[in-house]
Amino acid sequence: LEKVEDVLLNRRPDAADRLTEFAETVKSTRKDKVKDLSWRTLPVAERLKHALITGDLEFIEADVEEARQSATRVLEIIEGPLMAGMNVVGDLFGAGKMFLPQVVKSARVMKKAVAYLTPFMGEEKKQAQLNGASESEHRARGRVLLATVKGDVHDIGKNIVGVVLACNDYDVVDLGVMVPCEKILSKAREIQADAIGLSGLITPSLDEMVHVARTMQHDGFTTPLLIGGATTSARHTAVKIAPRYQGIVLHVLDASRSVGVVDQLSRPESRDELNQRNRAVQERERLAFEKKSQRKLVPYAQAVARRYQIDWERDRHAIATPSFLGTKVLPQFPLEQIVPFIDWSPFFLTWELKGKYPRIFDDPNIGPRARELFEDAQKLLDRIVHEKRLAANGVYGFFPANAEDDDIVIYGGPSRWVERMRFPALRQQWERDGQTSFRSLADYIAPKSSGIPDYIGAFAVTAGIGLESIVHEFERDHDDYNAIMSKALADRLAEAFAELLHKRAREDWGYGKGESLSNDELIREKYRGIRPAAGYPSCPDHTDKENLFELLDATAATGIRLTESFAMYPGASVSGFYFAHPEARYFSIDFITRDQIEAYASRKRQSVHETERWLAPYLAYDPA
Ligand code: SAH
Repeated sequence: LEKVEDVLLNRRPDAADRLTEFAETVKSTRKDKVKDLSWRTLPVAERLKHALITGDLEFIEADVEEARQSATRVLEIIEGPLMAGMNVVGDLFGAGKMFLPQVVKSARVMKKAVAYLTPFMGEEKKQAQLNGASESEHRARGRVLLATVKGDVHDIGKNIVGVVLACNDYDVVDLGVMVPCEKILSKAREIQADAIGLSGLITPSLDEMVHVARTMQHDGFTTPLLIGGATTSARHTAVKIAPRYQGIVLHVLDASRSVGVVDQLSRPESRDELNQRNRAVQERERLAFEKKSQRKLVPYAQAVARRYQIDWERDRHAIATPSFLGTKVLPQFPLEQIVPFIDWSPFFLTWELKGKYPRIFDDPNIGPRARELFEDAQKLLDRIVHEKRLAANGVYGFFPANAEDDDIVIYGGPSRWVERMRFPALRQQWERDGQTSFRSLADYIAPKSSGIPDYIGAFAVTAGIGLESIVHEFERDHDDYNAIMSKALADRLAEAFAELLHKRAREDWGYGKGESLSNDELIREKYRGIRPAAGYPSCPDHTDKENLFELLDATAATGIRLTESFAMYPGASVSGFYFAHPEARYFSIDFITRDQIEAYASRKRQSVHETERWLAPYLAYDPA
């Protein structure tokens, strides 16, 4: 400490020399870890197993070739040592002794081995046909169809599920993202799927899943339906999806649970048991939902009357004037500047390792696995940054704005004569214990009647340009581990870019100039103001992104597109509004009654029906 302080505080002329001298004495003496290669002396079948369990790729092709030379049929190798190895992996995983990243790495070894053997199997098949023998093929334990529903683009969790199922000897057909209902169902028929798994991230996907369930019922399907993805819930599945379809509908949130569930489905006895248990749980969920829907919601007019009130007269001085109006485009923002802003905790969560970074490394259970995952991530991230494999594009801007009732009005210019755009905002109505006021984002912008010229900011960033080509490269190489890893990293970079840009926006806006927050404090959002994202609890309407994108000309500026459900493509993108007022807080809209929906629909100039569709998960009533 003394030596460091000497340098920092410039306390003595030889401070730097003394510190470097001292540093030499505490240098790590640990040599690069020498790999333990004693397993190389084992018989080849054991070596294959070892490679699978440890995820070690180095010798897999050589070992498989060796096994092939002494095998009578190639299939024997797959069904023998390779499958045995995967079974051990499955058992360890089931027992909580192995974690998702390791399983995905083991699966990579399996895939490489199978890819190596496949051409030889083709040869054997031809020979068998020539000899008139009926060829026997490996029969998987079942066939699972996976898809991210129409309008949605997120697929990391779904891809992990696919890998984990495949390495547990299920045949997995993955239709990718943005898959329409008809395509899912016709494929399910074609391959005679034993189960269908639907995934989605954004709230409109919930409704799309209901649509798929309803169509399955109509078309006479009996295939079990698995529901997963970040916004899905046991309750939504029970209340909205399961009642539409007589087959089994299961909510499977964690990728790590998927194998257990599919295994249970594959055997008639356990399937019946699972079905009964699931139906009982879902019945309880529905009852709980009904009880909850009797919560106290105040009529919209009352919520407006009891709005969250900022003392605008008192706060006149707190209104900051941005240093520019209109937008600024940041094409190809240097990735290395974004990296330090990364919040790593969600990265571990993506891989179902729960814990806060960097404390997660000290966890006696998952610490070593987290460390290994992190090292792999750093390696790939370095490559992506140095080879500039991803382009990070951003746009942000500031606009003159005032609130008019619950609308946020954006003006064409500083004179505020011409109205350019209007964002109708939703308002809370749930009178929870102790709730004294009802919030809307419109409360954070000075009302027109105050005569105070206020502003709003907006932004859109992506770090996903170029991601597809990286993913394809890895997939071609049978490397799902790195394919998934690149997606997870692109997501992290996009969020980090949003954090970086928000900081810059606060500086441009003025009030953030004197800010000195550590990265950790930035991640904990200790700064003034908020950046709510359309589709999230304060402004749950994803369709707001249409106007937001127009305001920023975001597609031209960044390359981000909106799907028909207003998901952003590439998925590694973030957009939202900036609110500068010191009292601005995130909140949750939770539930909306019909009177508010009607008022909101007319302000949005769209039908009540359409509005109900976009806000379906938030309705406090049954629109039917
Ligand atoms: N550090 C995190 C940041 C994302 S989560 C990461 O790297 O993943 C926090 C973001 O979600 C906020 O910045 C905001 O954009 C959005 N958000 C959180 N709560 C919200 C709410 N109630 N309404 C709207 N957006 C919200």
